[in-house]
Amino acid sequence: MKLKMLIVEDEEALLDLLKFNFNKEGYKIDTATDGETALEKILYKPPDIIILDWMLPKLSGIELCRRIRKNKEHKNIPIIMLTAKGEEEDKLRGLETGADDYITKPFSVNELVARVKAVLRRIRPMFVDEVLTYKGIVIDLVSHSASRDGETLHLGPTEFNLLAFFMENIGRVFSREQLLNHVWKNDAYVEPRTVDVHIRRLRKAINNDVKEDFIRTVRSAGYCFGS
Ligand code: CA
Repeated sequence: MKLKMLIVEDEEALLDLLKFNFNKEGYKIDTATDGETALEKILYKPPDIIILDWMLPKLSGIELCRRIRKNKEHKNIPIIMLTAKGEEEDKLRGLETGADDYITKPFSVNELVARVKAVLRRIRPMFVDEVLTYKGIVIDLVSHSASRDGETLHLGPTEFNLLAFFMENIGRVFSREQLLNHVWKNDAYVEPRTVDVHIRRLRKAINNDVKEDFIRTVRSAGYCFGS
């Protein structure tokens, strides 16, 4: 079963780039360059996931997002919003827009592909493979096994979840609190500095003191994995 993706973007060059790359991922791509056309397409041929630009002619991305969420049949379609830096990003952060994730322009296509997979894994797991890879690190989310350059990594459950979360969000900076929310979920008794302890264990396990460290400590912000 091919995943049906609708890309809504009015910058033709970016639209082509996204279309090309998601085609390569094996998705069936449909496109729209304004909000009204997108809405029509969603009503008559609902896609499995939508990449939605914020600023669009006729109907804005944000308004389109609201309408989709109000529609009984389409409200569960995952939406990833594209925004420009600055005001849009700030607004989106503070708004309950109904988007499942957002990415700020300019972004790397690889990062967007990873985000799409992370959202799909959460919402439409039948479309996503269960193996994540990054520069020699391979983790299998079903068997809960991990390796680096072919050698098995021995990870505790928290370190495994932390690594999986990082590999679904390559290049994104997370504060300790955000990591606690995503990885530890509702464990109320965990303090932010616990994150540091597990990051240290994870580093030790995956780097073995000799390999390149993909975990970056970002001063006064938190942690980031990969480029
Ligand atoms: Ca635009």
